[in-house]
Amino acid sequence: MMQCQYKHLINGQWESSETLGANINPSDLDDLVGNYAQGDQQQTINAIEAAKTAFQSWSCSPIQQRFDMLDAVGSEILARKDELAKLLAREEGKALSDALGEVIRAGQIFKFFAGECVRQTGDKLASTRQGMEVEVTREPVGVVGLITPWNFPIAIPAWKIAPALAYGNTVVFKPAELVPASAWALADIIHRAGAPAGVFNLVLGKGSIVGETLVNHLDVAAISFTGSEGTGRNIASKVVARMGKVQLEMGGKNPLVVLDDADLEVAAEVAVNGAFYATGQRCTASSRFIVTKGIHDRFVAAVVNKMGKLEVGHALDTNTKIGPVVDKKQLDNVCQYIRVGKDEGAKLAFGGEILQRKTKGFFLQPTLFTQANSSMRIAKEEIFGPVACVIKVADYEEALAVANDTVFGLSSGIVTTSLKYANHFKRHAHSGMVMVNAPTAGVDYHVPFGGRNGSSYGSREQGRYAAEFYTTVKTVYIAS
Ligand code: NDP
Repeated sequence: MMQCQYKHLINGQWESSETLGANINPSDLDDLVGNYAQGDQQQTINAIEAAKTAFQSWSCSPIQQRFDMLDAVGSEILARKDELAKLLAREEGKALSDALGEVIRAGQIFKFFAGECVRQTGDKLASTRQGMEVEVTREPVGVVGLITPWNFPIAIPAWKIAPALAYGNTVVFKPAELVPASAWALADIIHRAGAPAGVFNLVLGKGSIVGETLVNHLDVAAISFTGSEGTGRNIASKVVARMGKVQLEMGGKNPLVVLDDADLEVAAEVAVNGAFYATGQRCTASSRFIVTKGIHDRFVAAVVNKMGKLEVGHALDTNTKIGPVVDKKQLDNVCQYIRVGKDEGAKLAFGGEILQRKTKGFFLQPTLFTQANSSMRIAKEEIFGPVACVIKVADYEEALAVANDTVFGLSSGIVTTSLKYANHFKRHAHSGMVMVNAPTAGVDYHVPFGGRNGSSYGSREQGRYAAEFYTTVKTVYIAS
Protein backbone atom coordinates (compact mmCIF):
# COMPACT_ATOMS: atom_id res chain seq x y z
CA MET A 1 0.00 0.00 0.00
CA MET A 2 1.23 3.50 -0.82
CA GLN A 3 2.39 5.51 2.16
CA CYS A 4 0.60 8.82 2.72
CA GLN A 5 3.14 11.48 3.80
CA TYR A 6 0.82 14.44 3.60
CA LYS A 7 -2.46 14.13 5.49
CA HIS A 8 -5.36 16.43 6.30
CA LEU A 9 -5.56 18.17 9.65
CA ILE A 10 -9.20 18.03 10.72
CA ASN A 11 -10.32 18.99 14.20
CA GLY A 12 -6.79 18.61 15.53
CA GLN A 13 -6.28 15.09 14.10
CA TRP A 14 -4.20 13.93 11.13
CA GLU A 15 -6.40 12.04 8.71
CA SER A 16 -5.75 10.23 5.44
CA SER A 17 -8.13 9.48 2.56
CA GLU A 18 -8.87 6.44 0.43
CA THR A 19 -7.53 8.27 -2.61
CA LEU A 20 -3.94 9.48 -2.68
CA GLY A 21 -2.23 11.79 -5.15
CA ALA A 22 1.46 11.88 -6.12
CA ASN A 23 3.52 15.05 -5.63
CA ILE A 24 6.20 15.00 -8.36
CA ASN A 25 9.29 17.22 -8.56
CA PRO A 26 9.06 19.24 -11.82
CA SER A 27 12.89 19.42 -11.95
CA ASP A 28 13.17 15.62 -11.82
CA LEU A 29 10.14 13.56 -12.76
CA ASP A 30 11.71 10.48 -11.16
CA ASP A 31 11.65 12.20 -7.77
CA LEU A 32 8.45 11.58 -5.80
CA VAL A 33 8.18 14.28 -3.14
CA GLY A 34 5.44 12.30 -1.45
CA ASN A 35 1.90 11.01 -1.63
CA TYR A 36 -0.87 13.19 -0.33
CA ALA A 37 -4.41 12.50 0.79
CA GLN A 38 -7.16 13.68 -1.55
CA GLY A 39 -10.03 14.89 0.57
CA ASP A 40 -13.66 14.17 -0.21
CA GLN A 41 -16.80 16.17 0.39
CA GLN A 42 -17.49 14.62 3.81
CA GLN A 43 -13.98 15.34 5.10
CA THR A 44 -14.35 18.94 3.98
CA ILE A 45 -17.70 19.20 5.75
CA ASN A 46 -16.15 17.69 8.89
CA ALA A 47 -13.43 20.35 8.78
CA ILE A 48 -16.01 23.12 8.36
CA GLU A 49 -18.04 21.80 11.31
CA ALA A 50 -14.92 21.58 13.47
CA ALA A 51 -14.03 25.16 12.54
CA LYS A 52 -17.58 26.30 13.33
CA THR A 53 -17.45 24.74 16.80
CA ALA A 54 -13.96 26.09 17.50
CA PHE A 55 -15.01 29.60 16.46
CA GLN A 56 -17.05 30.03 19.64
CA SER A 57 -13.99 30.08 21.87
CA TRP A 58 -11.28 31.21 19.43
CA SER A 59 -13.24 34.34 18.46
CA CYS A 60 -13.15 35.38 22.13
CA SER A 61 -9.66 34.09 22.91
CA PRO A 62 -7.14 36.41 24.58
CA ILE A 63 -5.11 38.36 22.07
CA GLN A 64 -1.96 37.24 23.92
CA GLN A 65 -2.80 33.61 23.12
CA ARG A 66 -3.15 34.47 19.43
CA PHE A 67 0.04 36.53 19.51
CA ASP A 68 2.02 33.70 21.10
CA MET A 69 0.77 31.15 18.60
CA LEU A 70 1.41 33.23 15.46
CA ASP A 71 4.76 34.41 16.79
CA ALA A 72 5.80 30.79 17.41
CA VAL A 73 4.74 29.84 13.86
CA GLY A 74 6.83 32.70 12.44
CA SER A 75 9.82 31.73 14.57
CA GLU A 76 9.74 28.10 13.51
CA ILE A 77 9.40 28.97 9.81
CA LEU A 78 12.41 31.28 10.06
CA ALA A 79 14.45 28.76 12.07
CA ARG A 80 13.75 26.03 9.47
CA LYS A 81 13.97 28.30 6.43
CA ASP A 82 16.62 26.31 4.53
CA GLU A 83 14.81 22.99 4.92
CA LEU A 84 11.42 24.49 4.02
CA ALA A 85 12.92 26.30 1.01
CA LYS A 86 14.33 22.99 -0.28
CA LEU A 87 10.95 21.32 0.08
CA LEU A 88 9.23 24.21 -1.70
CA ALA A 89 11.79 24.31 -4.54
CA ARG A 90 11.48 20.54 -4.89
CA GLU A 91 7.70 20.47 -5.26
CA GLU A 92 7.13 23.74 -7.16
CA GLY A 93 10.35 24.17 -9.14
CA LYS A 94 11.21 27.68 -7.99
CA ALA A 95 14.99 28.28 -7.86
CA LEU A 96 16.30 27.70 -4.35
CA SER A 97 17.22 31.37 -3.82
CA ASP A 98 13.66 32.43 -4.74
CA ALA A 99 12.21 29.67 -2.56
CA LEU A 100 14.29 30.84 0.40
CA GLY A 101 13.05 34.39 -0.10
CA GLU A 102 9.47 33.12 -0.14
CA VAL A 103 9.89 31.09 3.06
CA ILE A 104 11.46 34.03 4.89
CA ARG A 105 8.58 36.18 3.77
CA ALA A 106 6.08 33.66 5.14
CA GLY A 107 7.84 33.78 8.52
CA GLN A 108 7.81 37.57 8.50
CA ILE A 109 4.09 37.61 7.67
CA PHE A 110 3.30 35.46 10.73
CA LYS A 111 5.44 37.76 12.88
CA PHE A 112 3.67 40.83 11.49
CA PHE A 113 0.20 39.43 12.18
CA ALA A 114 1.29 38.28 15.64
CA GLY A 115 1.86 41.99 16.23
CA GLU A 116 -1.52 42.85 14.73
CA CYS A 117 -3.19 40.65 17.38
CA VAL A 118 -2.16 43.12 20.05
CA ARG A 119 -2.74 46.23 17.92
CA GLN A 120 -6.47 45.76 17.38
CA THR A 121 -8.36 48.97 17.92
CA GLY A 122 -11.83 50.45 17.76
CA ASP A 123 -13.32 53.92 17.96
CA LYS A 124 -15.23 55.61 20.70
CA LEU A 125 -17.18 58.60 19.39
CA ALA A 126 -19.49 61.30 20.63
CA SER A 127 -23.09 60.72 19.57
CA THR A 128 -25.22 63.23 17.73
CA ARG A 129 -27.80 62.57 20.45
CA GLN A 130 -27.80 63.81 24.03
CA GLY A 131 -26.86 61.16 26.61
CA MET A 132 -25.55 58.66 24.09
CA GLU A 133 -22.11 57.29 23.26
CA VAL A 134 -21.03 55.33 20.21
CA GLU A 135 -18.42 52.59 19.89
CA VAL A 136 -17.22 51.05 16.64
CA THR A 137 -15.43 47.73 16.98
CA ARG A 138 -14.24 44.96 14.69
CA GLU A 139 -15.23 41.32 15.19
CA PRO A 140 -14.12 38.18 13.36
CA VAL A 141 -16.40 37.02 10.54
CA GLY A 142 -16.51 33.29 11.36
CA VAL A 143 -15.24 30.24 9.48
CA VAL A 144 -13.11 31.31 6.54
CA GLY A 145 -12.25 29.10 3.57
CA LEU A 146 -8.82 29.79 2.08
CA ILE A 147 -8.12 28.55 -1.45
CA THR A 148 -4.60 29.06 -2.82
CA PRO A 149 -2.66 28.48 -6.08
CA TRP A 150 0.57 26.54 -6.67
CA ASN A 151 2.95 29.37 -7.51
CA PHE A 152 3.61 30.61 -3.94
CA PRO A 153 3.10 27.44 -1.90
CA ILE A 154 3.91 28.99 1.49
CA ALA A 155 3.72 32.80 1.17
CA ILE A 156 0.15 33.02 -0.15
CA PRO A 157 -1.19 30.57 2.48
CA ALA A 158 0.71 32.60 5.11
CA TRP A 159 -0.81 35.91 4.06
CA LYS A 160 -4.30 34.44 4.30
CA ILE A 161 -3.96 32.16 7.36
CA ALA A 162 -2.08 34.62 9.60
CA PRO A 163 -4.61 37.49 9.43
CA ALA A 164 -7.57 35.09 9.55
CA LEU A 165 -6.35 33.65 12.86
CA ALA A 166 -5.05 36.96 14.23
CA TYR A 167 -8.49 38.55 14.00
CA GLY A 168 -10.19 35.56 15.66
CA ASN A 169 -11.54 33.56 12.71
CA THR A 170 -11.22 29.82 12.29
CA VAL A 171 -9.84 28.37 9.07
CA VAL A 172 -10.32 25.61 6.55
CA PHE A 173 -7.36 25.79 4.17
CA LYS A 174 -7.31 24.13 0.73
CA PRO A 175 -3.96 24.49 -1.06
CA ALA A 176 -3.43 23.73 -4.76
CA GLU A 177 -3.08 20.03 -5.49
CA LEU A 178 0.35 20.54 -7.05
CA VAL A 179 1.94 21.78 -3.80
CA PRO A 180 0.63 19.79 -0.81
CA ALA A 181 4.03 19.38 0.89
CA SER A 182 4.60 23.05 1.80
CA ALA A 183 0.97 23.31 2.91
CA TRP A 184 1.35 20.23 5.10
CA ALA A 185 4.61 21.54 6.62
CA LEU A 186 2.89 24.83 7.45
CA ALA A 187 -0.13 23.04 8.96
CA ASP A 188 2.16 20.89 11.08
CA ILE A 189 3.90 24.02 12.41
CA ILE A 190 0.60 25.75 13.20
CA HIS A 191 -0.73 22.62 14.90
CA ARG A 192 2.35 22.25 17.12
CA ALA A 193 2.40 26.00 17.86
CA GLY A 194 -0.78 25.41 19.85
CA ALA A 195 -3.76 26.00 17.57
CA PRO A 196 -6.69 24.46 19.48
CA ALA A 197 -8.54 21.63 17.72
CA GLY A 198 -10.68 22.94 14.87
CA VAL A 199 -9.19 26.45 14.84
CA PHE A 200 -7.00 25.62 11.86
CA ASN A 201 -7.90 22.80 9.46
CA LEU A 202 -6.11 21.62 6.33
CA VAL A 203 -7.99 19.68 3.65
CA LEU A 204 -5.85 18.58 0.71
CA GLY A 205 -7.33 17.66 -2.64
CA LYS A 206 -9.08 18.86 -5.74
CA GLY A 207 -10.61 22.28 -6.28
CA SER A 208 -13.62 20.64 -7.88
CA ILE A 209 -14.32 18.67 -4.66
CA VAL A 210 -12.76 20.31 -1.59
CA GLY A 211 -12.83 23.84 -3.06
CA GLU A 212 -16.41 23.57 -4.31
CA THR A 213 -17.59 22.26 -0.94
CA LEU A 214 -16.03 25.21 0.85
CA VAL A 215 -17.44 27.68 -1.63
CA ASN A 216 -21.00 26.35 -1.38
CA HIS A 217 -21.20 25.66 2.36
CA LEU A 218 -23.44 28.09 4.25
CA ASP A 219 -21.28 27.86 7.38
CA VAL A 220 -18.26 29.25 5.56
CA ALA A 221 -18.72 32.97 6.13
CA ALA A 222 -15.94 34.12 3.84
CA ILE A 223 -13.78 32.78 1.02
CA SER A 224 -10.37 34.21 0.20
CA PHE A 225 -9.11 32.93 -3.14
CA THR A 226 -5.96 33.40 -5.20
CA GLY A 227 -5.74 31.78 -8.60
CA SER A 228 -6.90 32.15 -12.15
CA GLU A 229 -9.53 34.59 -13.32
CA GLY A 230 -11.95 31.93 -14.55
CA THR A 231 -11.96 30.04 -11.26
CA GLY A 232 -12.21 33.31 -9.35
CA ARG A 233 -15.27 34.46 -11.26
CA ASN A 234 -16.96 31.11 -10.77
CA ILE A 235 -16.26 31.18 -7.01
CA ALA A 236 -17.43 34.79 -6.61
CA SER A 237 -20.74 34.11 -8.36
CA LYS A 238 -21.48 31.26 -5.94
CA VAL A 239 -20.36 32.96 -2.73
CA VAL A 240 -22.13 36.23 -3.52
CA ALA A 241 -25.32 34.32 -4.38
CA ARG A 242 -25.42 32.96 -0.83
CA MET A 243 -24.45 36.38 0.61
CA GLY A 244 -21.00 35.25 1.73
CA LYS A 245 -17.97 37.49 1.85
CA VAL A 246 -15.44 36.96 -0.95
CA GLN A 247 -12.00 38.24 -1.87
CA LEU A 248 -10.24 37.31 -5.12
CA GLU A 249 -6.66 37.83 -6.27
CA MET A 250 -6.27 36.73 -9.86
CA GLY A 251 -4.05 37.22 -12.87
CA GLY A 252 -2.14 40.06 -14.43
CA LYS A 253 -0.69 41.27 -17.72
CA ASN A 254 1.68 43.66 -16.07
CA PRO A 255 3.34 46.40 -18.12
CA LEU A 256 6.86 47.74 -17.66
CA VAL A 257 7.29 51.12 -19.38
CA VAL A 258 10.85 52.00 -20.38
CA LEU A 259 11.48 55.60 -21.45
CA ASP A 260 14.31 57.03 -23.55
CA ASP A 261 15.84 58.69 -20.49
CA ALA A 262 16.07 55.40 -18.50
CA ASP A 263 19.35 54.09 -17.19
CA LEU A 264 19.83 51.19 -19.61
CA GLU A 265 21.43 48.85 -17.07
CA VAL A 266 18.64 49.49 -14.55
CA ALA A 267 15.99 48.98 -17.25
CA ALA A 268 17.42 45.66 -18.43
CA GLU A 269 17.89 44.34 -14.89
CA VAL A 270 14.39 45.37 -13.78
CA ALA A 271 12.90 43.83 -16.92
CA VAL A 272 14.70 40.48 -16.66
CA ASN A 273 14.05 40.14 -12.94
CA GLY A 274 10.37 41.09 -13.25
CA ALA A 275 9.62 38.90 -16.26
CA PHE A 276 11.66 35.74 -15.81
CA TYR A 277 12.59 35.13 -12.18
CA ALA A 278 10.46 32.44 -10.54
CA THR A 279 10.06 31.16 -14.13
CA GLY A 280 7.65 34.01 -14.84
CA GLN A 281 5.06 32.20 -12.73
CA ARG A 282 4.13 35.24 -10.70
CA CYS A 283 0.88 37.12 -11.00
CA THR A 284 2.97 40.31 -10.74
CA ALA A 285 5.46 39.27 -13.47
CA SER A 286 6.16 41.86 -16.19
CA SER A 287 4.87 40.41 -19.43
CA ARG A 288 4.72 43.56 -21.59
CA PHE A 289 7.78 45.78 -22.02
CA ILE A 290 6.50 49.05 -23.47
CA VAL A 291 9.54 50.86 -24.78
CA THR A 292 9.94 54.28 -26.40
CA LYS A 293 11.64 54.26 -29.78
CA GLY A 294 14.87 56.08 -28.82
CA ILE A 295 15.99 53.35 -26.41
CA HIS A 296 14.15 50.40 -27.96
CA ASP A 297 16.98 48.68 -29.85
CA ARG A 298 19.54 49.18 -27.06
CA PHE A 299 17.03 47.90 -24.48
CA VAL A 300 16.23 44.75 -26.48
CA ALA A 301 19.95 44.04 -26.98
CA ALA A 302 20.67 44.51 -23.25
CA VAL A 303 17.76 42.28 -22.20
CA VAL A 304 18.68 39.54 -24.68
CA ASN A 305 22.27 39.69 -23.44
CA LYS A 306 21.11 39.17 -19.83
CA MET A 307 18.66 36.43 -20.82
CA GLY A 308 21.51 34.48 -22.38
CA LYS A 309 23.24 34.40 -19.02
CA LEU A 310 20.27 33.08 -17.02
CA GLU A 311 20.97 29.51 -15.99
CA VAL A 312 17.91 27.30 -16.52
CA GLY A 313 17.99 24.06 -14.58
CA HIS A 314 17.12 21.94 -11.55
CA ALA A 315 15.62 24.15 -8.85
CA LEU A 316 17.96 22.76 -6.18
CA ASP A 317 21.12 23.42 -8.19
CA THR A 318 22.65 26.55 -6.68
CA ASN A 319 23.66 27.86 -10.14
CA THR A 320 20.06 27.81 -11.33
CA LYS A 321 18.32 31.14 -11.77
CA ILE A 322 15.27 29.82 -13.66
CA GLY A 323 13.72 26.56 -12.52
CA PRO A 324 11.30 24.41 -14.52
CA VAL A 325 7.71 25.23 -15.39
CA VAL A 326 5.49 23.68 -12.72
CA ASP A 327 3.98 20.79 -14.70
CA LYS A 328 3.29 19.36 -18.15
CA LYS A 329 -0.06 21.09 -18.51
CA GLN A 330 1.44 24.50 -17.77
CA LEU A 331 4.42 23.81 -20.07
CA ASP A 332 2.07 22.87 -22.93
CA ASN A 333 0.07 26.01 -22.32
CA VAL A 334 3.14 28.28 -22.37
CA CYS A 335 4.50 26.55 -25.52
CA GLN A 336 1.14 27.04 -27.18
CA TYR A 337 1.43 30.79 -26.49
CA ILE A 338 4.92 30.80 -28.03
CA ARG A 339 3.41 29.30 -31.20
CA VAL A 340 0.60 31.86 -31.09
CA GLY A 341 3.16 34.69 -30.82
CA LYS A 342 4.99 33.47 -33.92
CA ASP A 343 1.73 33.01 -35.84
CA GLU A 344 0.58 36.51 -34.89
CA GLY A 345 3.72 37.97 -36.49
CA ALA A 346 5.74 38.90 -33.40
CA LYS A 347 9.48 38.33 -33.79
CA LEU A 348 11.15 35.77 -31.52
CA ALA A 349 14.19 37.65 -30.20
CA PHE A 350 15.30 35.00 -27.70
CA GLY A 351 14.37 31.57 -26.37
CA GLY A 352 11.24 29.59 -27.11
CA GLU A 353 12.88 26.16 -26.85
CA ILE A 354 12.29 23.31 -24.42
CA LEU A 355 15.61 22.37 -22.80
CA GLN A 356 17.03 18.97 -21.84
CA ARG A 357 18.92 18.72 -18.57
CA LYS A 358 20.52 15.83 -16.64
CA THR A 359 17.18 15.08 -15.02
CA LYS A 360 13.82 14.84 -16.79
CA GLY A 361 11.91 18.05 -16.09
CA PHE A 362 9.84 20.83 -17.62
CA PHE A 363 12.69 23.17 -18.57
CA LEU A 364 11.97 26.04 -20.92
CA GLN A 365 14.18 28.88 -22.16
CA PRO A 366 13.11 32.36 -21.09
CA THR A 367 11.48 33.83 -24.16
CA LEU A 368 11.25 37.33 -25.60
CA PHE A 369 9.14 38.55 -28.50
CA THR A 370 9.65 41.93 -30.17
CA GLN A 371 7.43 43.74 -32.71
CA ALA A 372 4.37 42.96 -30.61
CA ASN A 373 1.27 45.14 -30.37
CA SER A 374 -1.69 45.40 -28.03
CA SER A 375 -4.05 43.50 -30.28
CA MET A 376 -1.96 40.31 -30.15
CA ARG A 377 -3.00 37.54 -27.79
CA ILE A 378 0.54 37.32 -26.37
CA ALA A 379 0.16 40.97 -25.33
CA LYS A 380 -3.37 40.59 -23.95
CA GLU A 381 -3.67 37.21 -22.22
CA GLU A 382 -1.86 36.03 -19.14
CA ILE A 383 0.71 33.39 -20.14
CA PHE A 384 2.02 32.66 -16.62
CA GLY A 385 5.43 31.46 -17.74
CA PRO A 386 8.84 32.88 -18.71
CA VAL A 387 7.56 34.77 -21.77
CA ALA A 388 7.51 38.54 -22.35
CA CYS A 389 6.94 40.76 -25.35
CA VAL A 390 8.21 44.20 -26.35
CA ILE A 391 5.85 46.85 -27.72
CA LYS A 392 7.58 49.85 -29.34
CA VAL A 393 5.90 53.22 -28.80
CA ALA A 394 6.57 56.82 -29.86
CA ASP A 395 6.54 58.61 -26.51
CA TYR A 396 5.42 58.55 -22.85
CA GLU A 397 1.80 59.38 -23.68
CA GLU A 398 1.49 56.39 -26.01
CA ALA A 399 3.34 54.20 -23.47
CA LEU A 400 0.84 55.08 -20.74
CA ALA A 401 -2.13 54.41 -23.03
CA VAL A 402 -0.72 51.00 -24.02
CA ALA A 403 0.12 50.14 -20.41
CA ASN A 404 -3.48 50.80 -19.39
CA ASP A 405 -4.93 48.95 -22.39
CA THR A 406 -5.65 45.71 -20.50
CA VAL A 407 -8.48 43.96 -18.72
CA PHE A 408 -6.11 43.38 -15.78
CA GLY A 409 -4.62 45.88 -13.32
CA LEU A 410 -2.38 44.24 -10.76
CA SER A 411 1.09 45.78 -10.98
CA SER A 412 2.78 48.18 -13.39
CA GLY A 413 6.23 49.71 -13.60
CA ILE A 414 8.17 52.51 -15.20
CA VAL A 415 11.90 52.92 -15.70
CA THR A 416 12.85 56.56 -16.11
CA THR A 417 15.13 59.22 -14.67
CA SER A 418 12.39 61.83 -15.10
CA LEU A 419 10.56 62.85 -11.92
CA LYS A 420 7.81 64.35 -14.06
CA TYR A 421 7.03 61.09 -15.87
CA ALA A 422 7.50 58.97 -12.76
CA ASN A 423 5.01 61.10 -10.84
CA HIS A 424 2.52 61.15 -13.71
CA PHE A 425 2.73 57.38 -14.09
CA LYS A 426 2.25 56.78 -10.35
CA ARG A 427 -1.03 58.65 -10.53
CA HIS A 428 -2.34 57.48 -13.90
CA ALA A 429 -1.34 53.80 -14.15
CA HIS A 430 -4.53 51.73 -13.75
CA SER A 431 -3.16 49.16 -11.34
CA GLY A 432 -3.21 48.36 -7.66
CA MET A 433 0.57 48.55 -7.37
CA VAL A 434 3.06 50.79 -9.18
CA MET A 435 6.84 50.36 -9.24
CA VAL A 436 9.28 53.11 -10.21
CA ASN A 437 12.70 51.84 -11.37
CA ALA A 438 11.90 48.48 -9.72
CA PRO A 439 10.54 45.15 -11.00
CA THR A 440 6.76 44.78 -11.17
CA ALA A 441 7.14 41.68 -8.98
CA GLY A 442 8.65 41.70 -5.49
CA VAL A 443 6.70 43.39 -2.72
CA ASP A 444 6.86 44.12 1.00
CA TYR A 445 4.84 42.05 3.47
CA HIS A 446 3.45 44.87 5.62
CA VAL A 447 1.54 46.88 3.00
CA PRO A 448 -1.54 46.10 0.89
CA PHE A 449 -1.26 43.74 -2.05
CA GLY A 450 -3.81 43.58 -4.83
CA GLY A 451 -5.07 44.99 -8.09
CA ARG A 452 -7.94 46.48 -10.01
CA ASN A 453 -10.33 45.45 -12.77
CA GLY A 454 -9.90 41.78 -13.78
CA SER A 455 -7.01 41.23 -11.35
CA SER A 456 -8.76 41.53 -8.01
CA TYR A 457 -12.15 41.67 -6.38
CA GLY A 458 -13.00 42.67 -2.84
CA SER A 459 -10.81 44.24 -0.22
CA ARG A 460 -7.02 44.16 -0.20
CA GLU A 461 -4.80 41.50 1.35
CA GLN A 462 -1.80 42.00 3.65
CA GLY A 463 -0.72 44.66 6.06
CA ARG A 464 -3.30 46.20 8.35
CA TYR A 465 -5.68 46.47 5.36
CA ALA A 466 -6.29 42.72 5.75
CA ALA A 467 -8.61 43.59 8.66
CA GLU A 468 -11.21 44.77 6.12
CA PHE A 469 -11.75 41.23 4.93
CA TYR A 470 -11.18 39.23 8.09
CA THR A 471 -13.38 41.33 10.36
CA THR A 472 -16.84 42.79 10.36
CA VAL A 473 -17.63 46.15 11.91
CA LYS A 474 -20.07 46.56 14.80
CA THR A 475 -21.54 49.89 15.92
CA VAL A 476 -22.72 50.03 19.53
CA TYR A 477 -24.87 52.81 21.07
CA ILE A 478 -24.77 53.23 24.84
CA ALA A 479 -27.32 55.46 26.55
CA SER A 480 -26.09 56.91 29.83
P1 NDP B 1 -6.57 27.92 -10.42
O1 NDP B 1 -7.56 29.01 -10.48
O2 NDP B 1 -6.72 26.77 -11.32
O3 NDP B 1 -6.52 27.30 -8.96
C1 NDP B 1 -6.39 28.06 -7.81
C2 NDP B 1 -6.97 27.28 -6.65
O4 NDP B 1 -8.37 27.14 -6.84
C3 NDP B 1 -6.41 25.87 -6.53
O5 NDP B 1 -6.29 25.54 -5.17
C4 NDP B 1 -7.48 25.05 -7.20
O6 NDP B 1 -7.50 23.71 -6.80
C5 NDP B 1 -8.73 25.77 -6.74
N1 NDP B 1 -9.91 25.50 -7.55
C6 NDP B 1 -9.97 25.09 -8.84
N2 NDP B 1 -11.25 24.96 -9.23
C7 NDP B 1 -12.02 25.28 -8.16
C8 NDP B 1 -13.42 25.34 -7.93
N3 NDP B 1 -14.30 25.04 -8.89
N4 NDP B 1 -13.87 25.72 -6.71
C9 NDP B 1 -13.00 26.05 -5.74
N5 NDP B 1 -11.66 25.99 -5.89
C10 NDP B 1 -11.17 25.64 -7.09
O7 NDP B 1 -5.14 28.60 -10.55
P2 NDP B 1 -3.72 27.93 -10.50
O8 NDP B 1 -3.48 27.22 -9.23
O9 NDP B 1 -3.56 27.18 -11.77
O10 NDP B 1 -2.75 29.23 -10.45
C11 NDP B 1 -2.37 29.92 -11.58
C12 NDP B 1 -3.23 31.15 -11.78
O11 NDP B 1 -3.37 31.88 -10.57
C13 NDP B 1 -2.63 32.12 -12.76
O12 NDP B 1 -3.61 32.50 -13.68
C14 NDP B 1 -2.21 33.33 -11.91
O13 NDP B 1 -2.30 34.53 -12.57
C15 NDP B 1 -3.12 33.28 -10.76
N6 NDP B 1 -2.46 33.81 -9.56
C16 NDP B 1 -2.80 35.06 -9.09
C17 NDP B 1 -2.18 35.60 -7.99
C18 NDP B 1 -2.58 36.93 -7.44
O14 NDP B 1 -2.29 37.21 -6.27
N7 NDP B 1 -3.24 37.79 -8.19
C19 NDP B 1 -1.13 34.87 -7.30
C20 NDP B 1 -0.87 33.58 -7.85
C21 NDP B 1 -1.52 33.09 -8.95
P3 NDP B 1 -6.64 22.56 -7.54
O15 NDP B 1 -5.74 23.21 -8.53
O16 NDP B 1 -5.94 21.89 -6.45
O17 NDP B 1 -7.63 21.66 -8.18
